Amino acid sequence: MFKTYFRALNLYFNQEKILQDTYRHKGQRKRMVEALRQRGIQDEAVLAAMAAVPRHFFLEKAFEEHAYEDKPFPIGCEQTISQPFTVAYQTVLLDIKNGDQVLEIGTGSGYQAAILAVLGAKVFTVERQETLYFQTKKLLETLGFKTVKCFFKDGSKGLPEKAPFDKIVVTAGAPVVPEPLKEQLAIGGILVIPVGESVQKMLRIKRISAIEYQEERLHDFRFVPFLEGVERK
Ligand code: SAH
Repeated sequence: MFKTYFRALNLYFNQEKILQDTYRHKGQRKRMVEALRQRGIQDEAVLAAMAAVPRHFFLEKAFEEHAYEDKPFPIGCEQTISQPFTVAYQTVLLDIKNGDQVLEIGTGSGYQAAILAVLGAKVFTVERQETLYFQTKKLLETLGFKTVKCFFKDGSKGLPEKAPFDKIVVTAGAPVVPEPLKEQLAIGGILVIPVGESVQKMLRIKRISAIEYQEERLHDFRFVPFLEGVERK
């Protein structure tokens, strides 16, 4: 069922990169998924989505060989693609249902957005670095992700014009939980956000009613910083 997203198997992107998913890549991806399972990821839908999305499409050619290692890599603008374990961990916490309206803060490479889309979410993803915004928007379009909409914005105010969201995920380390993100959750909605300065605690916040939220404090992670304002080319 995930195959349709990757019908374009031999594409030129930015005139240089060839998007080709070979048997070798598929084998490496299978091993990546097994490693995630070993590290405790049990959600079969999430594992299937990670088995379906070619992570090497979202990396610079120079890192292609390493695309299926459980590591973050530079994506330009001093940012990184999150490591597969972190992507899987946040996605499990979000508990994506088909048709969920999902807000992602920190588009970066677009890999997390692609995983959410493959799971059936309607994704609204916000990026504050103009270069990454343009590059990733083009990549996701090239790959045929029609259910991902990219926005060039400071995500600390959320995306009020598309609220409420069933799920919100922040993929940069925030010093505090931005109030607008809580306000833009639907009742019953879930916000997954890493909070802290040098090390971040993963928080899962559920909106119980118009005024009540339930907060779980989970494991520690290290993300690139969540910054205010936008950065232009
Ligand atoms: N989800 C991404 C992770 C990228 S790293 C992926 O799968 O590759 C986090 C990204 O968050 C960076 O690109 C950074 O520029 C962006 N970011 C940081 N603060 C932000 C903010 N306030 N609004 C929008 N994007 C932000």
